[in-house]
Amino acid sequence: MRFDVLTLFPGLFPPYLDQGVLGRGIRDGLVSVEIHDIRDEGEGKHRTVDDVPFGGGAGMVMKPGPIVRWIRRLETDGARHTRVVLLSPQGPRLTNETAMRLAGEDRIILVCGRYEGIDDRVREHFVDEEVSIGDYVLTGGELPALVLLDVVSRFVPGVVGNDESVRSDSLYDGLLKYPQYTQPRDFEGIGVPDVLLSGDHGRIAAWRREATLRRTASLRPDLLDRAKLTESERAIFDASVHRNAGTHEHLGGGA
Ligand code: SAM
Repeated sequence: MRFDVLTLFPGLFPPYLDQGVLGRGIRDGLVSVEIHDIRDEGEGKHRTVDDVPFGGGAGMVMKPGPIVRWIRRLETDGARHTRVVLLSPQGPRLTNETAMRLAGEDRIILVCGRYEGIDDRVREHFVDEEVSIGDYVLTGGELPALVLLDVVSRFVPGVVGNDESVRSDSLYDGLLKYPQYTQPRDFEGIGVPDVLLSGDHGRIAAWRREATLRRTASLRPDLLDRAKLTESERAIFDASVHRNAGTHEHLGGGA
């Protein structure tokens, strides 16, 4: 799949996109990312991209022209199925479900705002959806665009080498992942649950499932409603929620 990013700060992207799992996915041709400077479509000899808000008030507002010209340029550039996504603190919050849906698109244009944001006619008439990465306001849409790029790319087959790793991550099935440990067995006097050293795969799987339920009940009881649990799992979950009421559970999930 292909992402086109519209930004006033194109230099912010390469350092992140060159590295790690995402960098490899791009090098392997599974994901392609093109970064475009909105100012290239700016107006007049100074390539102006912003102006004062109508009605007065603080700050500058990004003009619609440069952004809409970029969207049109990209959409006529042979792309039939392009979804235009505006990064905005006013949009619905980004979730795994949104990311999985977007991973099914051929092509996505990400529009990053700056200053006081973008002339609202862009949102009303030229974008397909808005996405927020959380209930706070950043100085620009570049970090949100990178967050979206990263989370969507993880759902593009092949980007994360082992699909099982994506499917066993927190929130994939609506629950948090069980705790994990590695060497050394004893770190400054702190051990790990014995069951993980037992070599008994059945017991390990059962321990992990229970730890998943206990941890989710402790940290994110709100996830219960959407989780698909068997009756006995629900009983473990409910008991953990009950036990945690007023206390702070040991999050390791016990041995
Ligand atoms: N004045 C705007 C408001 O009150 O809604 C906020 C503008 S913000 C300073 C500048 C840009 O940062 C926004 O246009 C958006 O692209 C981006 N941005 C800030 N916070 C964001 C968030 N939580 N999620 C996604 N984008 C965000």
